[in-house]
Amino acid sequence: MPKGVKPCGGQDILLKFIIMTNLPIYDVAIVGAGASGLVCALECARAKKSVLVLEKDVQPGRKILASGNGRCNITNRFAAPDYYHAPQELIQAAFKNFPFEKALSYFEQLGIPLREEENGRIFPATGKSTSVLEPLKLAIQEAGAVLLTGQEVNRIQKKNHFTLHTAQGETFLSRRVVLACGSCAYPQLTGTQSGYQLAKNLGHHIIPPTPALCALNLKEKAVARLQGIRLQAAVTARQGQEIISQSQGEVLFTNYGISGPAVINVSADVCQALTHGPVQLDLNLFANTPHFNNLMQTRRETWGHRRAKDFFAGLLHENIANLLIDFAGIRKNIPVQDWTPGTWQNVVNTLQKWTFNVLSARPWAEAMAARGGVNTREINYNTFESVKCPGLFITGELLDVDGRSGGFNLHFAWSSGFTAARKLSED
Ligand SMILES: Cc1cc2nc3c(=O)[nH]c(=O)nc-3n(C[C@H](O)[C@H](O)[C@H](O)COP(=O)(O)OP(=O)(O)OC[C@H]3O[C@@H](n4cnc5c(N)ncnc54)[C@H](O)[C@@H]3O)c2cc1C
Repeated sequence: MPKGVKPCGGQDILLKFIIMTNLPIYDVAIVGAGASGLVCALECARAKKSVLVLEKDVQPGRKILASGNGRCNITNRFAAPDYYHAPQELIQAAFKNFPFEKALSYFEQLGIPLREEENGRIFPATGKSTSVLEPLKLAIQEAGAVLLTGQEVNRIQKKNHFTLHTAQGETFLSRRVVLACGSCAYPQLTGTQSGYQLAKNLGHHIIPPTPALCALNLKEKAVARLQGIRLQAAVTARQGQEIISQSQGEVLFTNYGISGPAVINVSADVCQALTHGPVQLDLNLFANTPHFNNLMQTRRETWGHRRAKDFFAGLLHENIANLLIDFAGIRKNIPVQDWTPGTWQNVVNTLQKWTFNVLSARPWAEAMAARGGVNTREINYNTFESVKCPGLFITGELLDVDGRSGGFNLHFAWSSGFTAARKLSED
């Protein structure tokens, strides 16, 4: 056993190889024991390939554990190309092998009962992400794959076979390599640039990563007065007149800006657009209120004698009403019926299109995913094999693929790992 190497399973295979040849040549070496690497390892090992998984962290699957607030939102009933930033054909190819129904049966066959929550989100029935990771690890071990933790691959060379070197001074040989290193998002939980560098050294181009699934800093510092307020809104992200993304759902104001599912779902497009210029967010606070203008007119006829703050009582959170009054430059003591028609219309319009200016993304440590990564044009969609370096496979979030929140990113990770394994199992 190489010095400093901590085996997690399949030690007997490793030892057998070492005794025979001193340095074994594995059929498949997988760099990264995250969602895509683990499924790929399991499928290759089930197909009787000798499999080595190298993981830099002290434990595998740390993002699986953190996902869904520790509950692991493993997939989504609506998993389909529309929910991804990726070529449609790539997602279709991966999902042909591993559609939503397959994800359900796959995890259930691993002994993980599942339950569905709102918007098609699927969780382990226990409500704990360990219920996903532990059975996966056990299945991999039982299938005979070798999983070594604390081994960070920092150089890969290709000649007749691949030679993998680790920062810990170990060397491993393999006929095929899978880069399943994930993205640079959430560095405190294994996120790293390492995979981009390894792919680049093997001939790939990297689309510069930008944060995805994150909150946004706003220029309007006054929103800090709304900190902690949640509301339902339709969010439209614009760059000038061009609409770049839309979402609807809960919005949460924070001391730095804005968050909540509806914002998080437009954040990848926003962060990417910010590299080209300023981005605005329009919030419609009454997107689900039919005949909103009529409603406001009726309120005005009934309570037009009230001052601005009192006029909005019952309709808006007090702090939101106060901020709206300030934004619209309204004098607080004047009854609403005495506002000019222009002021009235401005307020009604603002409630349906309240514009905020995005200052920046929140730091990588708060981004749950990344846009950018290995250019998807450089992989075969049907197999996830590199077209630049035959024998190399690239899966999961290391690719320039990102999905909306709700289980879509994990579904892509499992399905790309599964698809690569099909090809790896053939050879
Ligand atoms: C806080 C948080 C919550 C999330 N919640 C959800 C959710 O509920 N649903 C959802 O669908 N998605 C969620 N995601 C996103 C999801 O976790 C990722 O998209 C998914 O884990 C990506 O899988 P992967 O296999 O590509 O990469 P990862 O799971 O990130 O695994 C990559 C592995 O590779 C290892 N590695 C990297 N470089 C090297 C190297 N050079 N040598 C050895 N090992 C290396 C890393 O340590 C890591 O273990 C969440 C992410 C975060 C951060």
